[in-house]
Amino acid sequence: MADDETRADSFDVVIIGAGFSGMYMLHKTRELGLSAVILEAAGDVGGTWYWNRYPGARCDIHSMDYSYSFDDDLQQEWEWSERYSPQPEILKYAAHVAERFDLRCDIRFGTRVGSANWDDNANQWVLETETGDAVRGTWCVLAVGCLSVPQRPSFDGLDDYKGDWYHTGLWPHEEVDFTGKDVAVIGTGSSAIQSIPQIAKQARHLTVFQRTPNFSVPAWNRPLTEEEVRPIKENYAAYRENARWSESGYNGEDAHESGHDVSDNRRRSELERRWAEGGFTMLSTFTDVGNDAAINKIVADFAHEKIREKVKDPKVADLLCPTSHPFGTKRLCVDIDYHDTYNRPNVSLVDINAAPIERLTAEGLKTTETDYHFDAIVFAIGFDAMTGPILNIDIRGVEGRSLRKEWEDGPHTYLGLGMAGYPNLFPVTGPQSPSVLTNMMSAIEQHIEWISDCLAYMTDKGLDRIEARTDAQQDWVRHNKEVGDTTLYPLANSWYVGTNIPGKPRVFLPYVGGFGEYRKICDDVAADDYRGFVVASHDRRGDDLWDSA
Ligand code: FAD
Ligand code: NAP
Repeated sequence: MADDETRADSFDVVIIGAGFSGMYMLHKTRELGLSAVILEAAGDVGGTWYWNRYPGARCDIHSMDYSYSFDDDLQQEWEWSERYSPQPEILKYAAHVAERFDLRCDIRFGTRVGSANWDDNANQWVLETETGDAVRGTWCVLAVGCLSVPQRPSFDGLDDYKGDWYHTGLWPHEEVDFTGKDVAVIGTGSSAIQSIPQIAKQARHLTVFQRTPNFSVPAWNRPLTEEEVRPIKENYAAYRENARWSESGYNGEDAHESGHDVSDNRRRSELERRWAEGGFTMLSTFTDVGNDAAINKIVADFAHEKIREKVKDPKVADLLCPTSHPFGTKRLCVDIDYHDTYNRPNVSLVDINAAPIERLTAEGLKTTETDYHFDAIVFAIGFDAMTGPILNIDIRGVEGRSLRKEWEDGPHTYLGLGMAGYPNLFPVTGPQSPSVLTNMMSAIEQHIEWISDCLAYMTDKGLDRIEARTDAQQDWVRHNKEVGDTTLYPLANSWYVGTNIPGKPRVFLPYVGGFGEYRKICDDVAADDYRGFVVASHDRRGDDLWDSA
């Protein structure tokens, strides 16, 4: 019999992370009548939107899509102010949800989980926090995020640097004022592309250090009007249903035709029309942008043209044109005034392929050509994406097997929702699920609803152990690779394939078979009594194992 202290720290469900995934999971456990707790490293809810407070941070999915759909009152009452929501507004929304559903009382903030061990006899996960506390749960939900482990700058001399330095993904809570300062930004991914125009407005001089230029499409952000919002809210159920079964989890315009089947004039007008709409719609200009190199090149050339139209100095424009990867195969950026910013007299661009950064110095940084002095350096160098937040926790499954070891050559999951040898452990929007290729709010809701339906099923049947079968997992890993290889994605070096992190295996991480298609696969698996999983009751294990395969 457990003592009082152990009992107090034992739950049906332990959730790691209080971003949008963890918050919704907690809400669902209450509907199921299960006891639950969230362990969260941060000081409050919001996840991504708690940590990424850099200037210019905002959503790249339309506000009316990037929000929970599970509660109609919630979606009716909340008012988004802009087409693409800024970070403070999204964080406010997260806080509103936490209050509305009284979530904070079951969240332990400032609590980072360091390890998770499966206790086979107790049929529980035992989570240890970095302060040495242990929490037990029959079910464990890894709501740890995909982009929650910032890549630590590993430049020589970092400790010598006497100025201020920041990582976009760990931005301070107090205001950072760059007024009158000489500032460097290292990196030109989405975080940099959003922050550079804002920092440039304050800094005395801004120097951007670019390794790989990125494709970026204007957001054409603006305030949302009543005329736009009303029809969506009047038909929100249908609007959300459309997103649920769509390719990418939001209400965007699909591709209508192959780039091969249209005249030059029609091709041009479609490109212009999509550019004028802005954002991710450029990815679906034609049905074959993502898998036909010739059509992709047409879109890439068009984007180059737009850069050259915008940027006055032709040498700078050349440097800003991405040529090392097909359009959209690194995460497409959605910007506000990014390319215009290079026309400012106080902004310069340094190509660190031509002159690599050698080291940081006390005053700034040194490339192979020049010694720079900076008051502040902003590292916009990204994250150990998708696998990083999971492997940051030392996860030990049945008989002590180590997930870190088993994923040395890349992730192995079944549907991205379970792992053989790790019972009752559910990743959320992790590798081998559509995740970062979608509107993440849709992906989160789909995963959390699948997991909570699974818990309801198990509880109804008096079962308490579910584990992916090895053969189902192998098939899913193979299928992921096959689908990925039909696209142009694997051609780019990017965090989608792990090449941004030294030593990480090169594996295309998200599932690219389409969000609606994936939902159907997951629904079918559940309807077929969790085909590909072994479901059981741990009391009866051995003599009465009920195998759903
Ligand atoms: P997160 O929000 O990452 O939350 C995970 C939480 O888990 C964090 O609070 C973290 O502190 C906690 N955690 C992790 N590990 C541990 C541990 N070991 N112990 C305790 N706590 C832990 N997606 C879109 O669809 N559209 C966008 O426009 C968009 N913009 C983005 C902008 C930025 C700057 C970034 C970084 C990501 C963006 N994303 C976007 C992806 C974004 O991560 C998701 O949309 C969504 O917020 C993820 O929610 P989550 O709850 O799954 O994870
Ligand atoms: P990122 O896309 O990985 O970009 C990191 C940048 O830093 C790249 O330009 C990279 O160059 C550069 N870099 C990395 N290490 C470097 C080094 N050692 N020296 C020099 N340059 C280095 O990271 P991110 O910009 O933080 O974005 C990550 C993801 O978060 C996005 O893709 C997106 O999914 C999400 N996000 C979304 C938004 C939004 O618009 N809503 C905003 C921010 C982030 P290489 O390309 O050469 O590796």
